[in-house]
Amino acid sequence: MRCRLSRFPLTKVVPLAISRGTTAAVEHLLLEVEHGGLTGLGETGGFDTGHRAYATDALATELEALLPRLEAHDPEPLQALEPLLAGLSPPARCAVDLALHDWWGQRLGQPLRRIWGLDDGAISATSVTLGLGSETAVLERLDRWWAQLPASRIKLKLGSPEGVDHDRSLVQAVAGALERRRQSHGMAFELQVDANGGWSLEQARPMLGWLAEQGVVLVEQPLAPLADPEADSAAFAALELDCPIALVADESCWNLADLVRLAPYVDGVNIKLLKSGGLSEALLMARAARRLGLGVMLGCYSDSALLNGAAAQLLPLTRWPDLDSHLNLVDDPFEGLGLDGDRLVPPLGAGLGVSLARR
Ligand SMILES: [Mg+2]
Repeated sequence: MRCRLSRFPLTKVVPLAISRGTTAAVEHLLLEVEHGGLTGLGETGGFDTGHRAYATDALATELEALLPRLEAHDPEPLQALEPLLAGLSPPARCAVDLALHDWWGQRLGQPLRRIWGLDDGAISATSVTLGLGSETAVLERLDRWWAQLPASRIKLKLGSPEGVDHDRSLVQAVAGALERRRQSHGMAFELQVDANGGWSLEQARPMLGWLAEQGVVLVEQPLAPLADPEADSAAFAALELDCPIALVADESCWNLADLVRLAPYVDGVNIKLLKSGGLSEALLMARAARRLGLGVMLGCYSDSALLNGAAAQLLPLTRWPDLDSHLNLVDDPFEGLGLDGDRLVPPLGAGLGVSLARR
């Protein structure tokens, strides 16, 4: 097969602030694999979970070193390429795994989720994200989302550097706005919060019950992820009994081993393709989570419609879709991932079904 790696910018309409900092623009990598007249597309880019960080430049170096060895193979069978991918970092593996899956699905002439036997009728609404900021800025962001789509699921970022009192004021402001909207529009809303590891155990414990009283239904990653797996699991175990709402691991859960480790202490896991290393592991994780009685959240970083369109192949297995990053871009190079109300419509085309937009 022939491979090509290129860079592209992604610029947010509204910069996103979370507990670890603010993102306004990123650079991502596009991997194209071509064989037999078909071209598969894969995407990756740098990200930082607090305890692990990957830079886009380092991912480019890693992939450039791999490509000559990849080009010596055919893209199928996928299993024959597993040893080549095993040593890659998760985000570098993601680009290759997606491009190979895209090529394979096109070869079979079907969207991947159809090959996997998944049911598009099982797809639920995606959440939209409100970053940290002043109460006024957060409510303006909510209004801006509602001008774009009829969002019924809202994810509010917490873990503010200004402290938990500011977090509480944001929850009350957004819960109030949702109640006013419910009365005026006659529809239900769901409020989730994501602390992105921004709380201490002493801060998190009283917050969890208080969040339930405010009508919040889900909290993601209250405590910072820890490099030591046992200590990381113990942190979730310390919260579990105090948590009357769904407790979801994100930064702590990268792969199937993490999922199995955390399963006794959480209600769900946030699966992201850049953490899992692509669709191979993410499909395993989504299937295993459901078998273990956990809810699947499907999340993103500052990703384009290519990465989110790839993740969207797993939407039928997802209880809490959270793929909104491409809806907040001014320069997304890709098209194919649709939207119907506040439900994502996975690409209809074969493979990932996402292509470079004609401009
Ligand atoms: Mg999260």
